[in-house]
Amino acid sequence: MKNPSFHIVPLPTQIADAARRVVKAGAADHAVITVDSHGSSPCRHCLRWAQPGERVILFPYTAIPSGQPYSETGPIFVHTDECKRYSATDEYPADFRNGRVFRAYDSNYKIVDAKVVNGSEPEVVIETLFQNPDTAFVDVRSVTHGCFTFRVQRA
Ligand SMILES: [Zn+2]
Repeated sequence: MKNPSFHIVPLPTQIADAARRVVKAGAADHAVITVDSHGSSPCRHCLRWAQPGERVILFPYTAIPSGQPYSETGPIFVHTDECKRYSATDEYPADFRNGRVFRAYDSNYKIVDAKVVNGSEPEVVIETLFQNPDTAFVDVRSVTHGCFTFRVQRA
């Protein structure tokens, strides 16, 4: 379902590539994991679940920059091997329609609202959050683990 009112912002390729370089250099805060179950490891670059047997890098990512009260750094996965950055940026990623929480931030990185998808469509939840003029972007996170999945910006 195409949606003209927002666009999806996957993890930048330069950050995924940096993680791939850093893990090869043996950094203590970057780990390679072989995925053993479906639905456990979302790649933030191609925005799909890593499949059992695929390898992913687990590393800390700063979704909200340091130096403010809502600063946030937390663990994310990207595929260890090169993958194609999610490009259907006017469509909500099919793999993450459930189990997400939506946090709306203003342009100063302050949280202004948050909603869980409870039986409604994620597109509807995002549109509701963008109805608040203070909402600059929406971060989509795991409702259970809290980890950053991707960002949504106004179109
Ligand atoms: Zn990937």
